[in-house]
Amino acid sequence: MTNATEEIKSKLDIVDVLKNYLELKPAGKNFKTVCPFHREKTPSFMVSPERQSWHCFGCNIGGDIFTFLMKYENIEFFEALKILAEKAGIELKKINPAGEKQFGVLYDINEEAKFFFHHRLKESELFKNYLKNRGLKEETVAEFELGASPSGWDELLVYLVNKNFDPQDILRAGLVVKSEGRGTYFDRFRRRLMFPILNSSGKTVGFSGRILPEFEAEEKMGKYVNSPETPIFFKHKLLYGFDKSKAFIRESKQAVLVEGQMDLLMSWQEGVKNVVASSGTALTEDHIKSLSRFADEIIINFDSDEAGFAAGERAIDLIHKTDLSAKVLSLEGVKDPAELAVKSPGKLKNLIAEAIPAMEFFFRRYLSLAKESVKELKKSVRLALSKIKIMPSAVERNFWLKELSKKTGVPENTLLEEMSSLSFSTLSIKKNNFLSDSPTPLVEESFTRKELLSQKILSQTVLKGIAALEGFEEMIAEKFKDVLLHFKKGLPADKQSLPAQASELSTTNPELDHLLELVYLKSGLDEEENLDELKKQLRIEHLKGLKEKLFNEIKLAAADGKIDKESLLSEFYRVSRELDEVVNGI
Ligand SMILES: [Zn+2]
Repeated sequence: MTNATEEIKSKLDIVDVLKNYLELKPAGKNFKTVCPFHREKTPSFMVSPERQSWHCFGCNIGGDIFTFLMKYENIEFFEALKILAEKAGIELKKINPAGEKQFGVLYDINEEAKFFFHHRLKESELFKNYLKNRGLKEETVAEFELGASPSGWDELLVYLVNKNFDPQDILRAGLVVKSEGRGTYFDRFRRRLMFPILNSSGKTVGFSGRILPEFEAEEKMGKYVNSPETPIFFKHKLLYGFDKSKAFIRESKQAVLVEGQMDLLMSWQEGVKNVVASSGTALTEDHIKSLSRFADEIIINFDSDEAGFAAGERAIDLIHKTDLSAKVLSLEGVKDPAELAVKSPGKLKNLIAEAIPAMEFFFRRYLSLAKESVKELKKSVRLALSKIKIMPSAVERNFWLKELSKKTGVPENTLLEEMSSLSFSTLSIKKNNFLSDSPTPLVEESFTRKELLSQKILSQTVLKGIAALEGFEEMIAEKFKDVLLHFKKGLPADKQSLPAQASELSTTNPELDHLLELVYLKSGLDEEENLDELKKQLRIEHLKGLKEKLFNEIKLAAADGKIDKESLLSEFYRVSRELDEVVNGI
């Protein structure tokens, strides 16, 4: 697949691609912006047109256009390949026939099936009446391309085979099921209202089918049937309606999360367009991640029974952990947004505006018990504190501690003490490894403080010339020694400044190339950084390291008895004194 990625990369410019997602500002030879992957006010996300790469110095990740798109849109490699190939005007069939056979055909089959179902709906009075009774307008049905699956055993199968699709591929797309006995294929969806599920770039990847009420009694497969997981359909990542609503979510910075497809469609009709549905599956960290690119706040609604509360509580915890705000929407006794839209048209918008912060909701629920006894108070307060503790922002934690103190009469300090004694919530978030089989791995680094300082100082050298490093060369971290050597080697004695572009310094060593690239990207970012202060910090790190090394040698000498401890000790004192002087600015 690497050839396909190379060909696409040669046709697309990283700046053009990323401009569709980020506001890039020029920074020397590079571009910078605030990072979409972590919260920040000042930019540390750099894009290098000459290297066709990006890197965030805040969360220390970087890569190319593929890794960017996969991470930003939260999609798999093949989806990114498809989107970028389209952008580059390249036909995937030609450059990537194997991948196309494996994945591309699945998109085509789902697209064709959507067309089939949609036309069946148009012909069926039964289905059209059902939708009308539920309050769905024709234009909504058309916009979301709802469909109907016929009652026959293999009508879709026959249709698709006539369109020259291989039954094996139709099976892989999840649209037919293989019978256990004779191994024949039959349609997975029958007599169901069909909701096509589109991925965030608007491609049909699967379906959710609801049985019509008149067939419910005799149906064995359940009220709802979904496409199974396929190479292009990932339930834990997809949100129903997101392809259409994301522009509205971006605009309002707010997402309304509902449960069912019908809830979404009815909300949409009510003019609430910043809406997504988890389509009956439990909310995942991936869902939240997708939303977090566009929204600061997620408004959720859940059933008022215990099971509904448990699901809602879990969702709120996930949202808070991702550093987004959560609000709870109360529907005042109505079952769901779809029912509300029918019973009280126009009311949903008002109720959304009245949604309360999730923490407020927790307080109301937990603290209603608190008045009974000290034991109850302790239990309730601990529950509330366990929710506050999840929040990554200290400012927010502080705010809610104050609120909790007001509501319970327990002093803030006491609450803080109680909170720190609580072990962290056992809620575990699965680590995302969706990049594991990608041919363009996401580069993730962790540098020591000394390495970070060395990187910054070398970046300053790019701007100010090699002379700026005088007296500091031996302090540069080991990892960056080769970069320094390279800087010195490549320059004639009379030339004060370094080449303007990292590419002019390209070597045959990929690791060195990468470090050079980071140093150059950083130089566009840190133009204003004070070199003297950086040098002071590096000297401190250097002396600290030296001191520790001497200390260990002295320990060894003491155990050994033969080594000359005296000279080590005097060296140790000298370094300690120098460190004190630097720290105190003498
Ligand atoms: Zn970042």
